[in-house]
Amino acid sequence: MFVDYHTHHERCGHAVGALKDYIEAAIAKGLREIGLSDHQPLLHVPHVEGSAMRMEELPGYVEEALLLQKQYRGQIDVKVGLEADWVEGYGEQVRALLLQYPFDYVIGSVHFLGDWDHTNSAELARWEGRDVYETYAEYYRQVQLAAQSGLFDIIGHLDVIKRFGVKPERSVDELLEQTVVAVRDAGVCVEVNASGLRYPCAEQFPSRRVLEMMKSHDVPLTVGSDAHQPGFVAEGFATVYELLKHVGYTQIHGFTGRKRYEIEL
Ligand SMILES: [Zn+2]
Ligand SMILES: [Zn+2]
Repeated sequence: MFVDYHTHHERCGHAVGALKDYIEAAIAKGLREIGLSDHQPLLHVPHVEGSAMRMEELPGYVEEALLLQKQYRGQIDVKVGLEADWVEGYGEQVRALLLQYPFDYVIGSVHFLGDWDHTNSAELARWEGRDVYETYAEYYRQVQLAAQSGLFDIIGHLDVIKRFGVKPERSVDELLEQTVVAVRDAGVCVEVNASGLRYPCAEQFPSRRVLEMMKSHDVPLTVGSDAHQPGFVAEGFATVYELLKHVGYTQIHGFTGRKRYEIEL
């Protein structure tokens, strides 16, 4: 089962459990490494209760995570990370924020198209009146910009725009291929995020089709559960690791001090 590089905890306001609970869950599941990667405080819109921690909470989050990293040494390798938001026009603000902390890794995710959090089920109605293909195209354009920004080590849930099962009629293969090539050229890693298995899309992020494209372009990857409760640490990993084997991946990647290293499967 190896590693889980994507977890949240109670500070974000929509997850439960303390950091320690996620680490204990990872130990119980036999993981070698557990990545703490709570949501970045919102920068492009004012704080929304239940969406992410407040800016004032960020120093305490990192401090606690670093302390736990030390305390659990010898038992499990705890990585201190962040799931940051990519929003066009806010890259410099994110850069300034990231520079303040000694993160092991940073996930870059496109949750927002403007002020629309398309990953939030409460905002599903905002699909109405939109051209679905054009929305996908805009989403993938933003993912490509995120990869090229140089801000992130890992692209989070690369095809999460499919989360609630809203899909265009025409094929999005061209968008996916362009995105995979952009990610490869930018030299960033992609996470295989098992949480998609629990959503209406009913498959991991990204799809097998994208994983095959990634394999043919030699895009490095890591694995995460996106757990928002301790019980979901490593959830769905049997399925995900099996799929990786089928697609031909023989290694994944881990991070320390924002440097990538290989982990043989
Ligand atoms: Zn979340
Ligand atoms: Zn996310």
